[in-house]
Amino acid sequence: MSDTIFSKIIAGEIPCHKVYEDDLVLAFLDIFPLSPGHTLVIPKEPAATVDALSDDSAAAIGRVLPRIARAVMAATGIDQYNILQNNGPRAHQAVFHVHFHIIPKTEDGVGLGVGWNPGSLEQDQAATLAKQIADAMVP
Ligand code: AMP
Repeated sequence: MSDTIFSKIIAGEIPCHKVYEDDLVLAFLDIFPLSPGHTLVIPKEPAATVDALSDDSAAAIGRVLPRIARAVMAATGIDQYNILQNNGPRAHQAVFHVHFHIIPKTEDGVGLGVGWNPGSLEQDQAATLAKQIADAMVP
């Protein structure tokens, strides 16, 4: 559970520039945008991280995320974007209420900068790890 600034936005105690709302989802402009149209899509459920989110809220976000992305693209005229979703402070989460960033990437590179340092996937270890993850799946 979370009691954050986003809970206060959902409750109407703090203003936001709303772009979408339904029973389970709210979307609004990020107050410190990385690029024009930077939008946050959040569940109304007060889960801190995605792994704590109910199937209903996850499905509700999944249903509208592409539609909101299309609207951001149409409104900004920027046709490329990143969707970023941080979980935990080491993973750059600052507000502990699930949120998906939609961050347009302009032709001149304004938007999300991504650091990406790939390793390699050793076949035996990969098979073991994939099985461990599959076995850990809860229906
Ligand atoms: P994260 O690092 O993924 O937790 O990102 C949190 C985001 O919330 C940041 O991009 C902030 O700019 C944004 N944010 C924080 N407070 C507000 C607010 N009151 N209204 C809109 N966006 C906010």
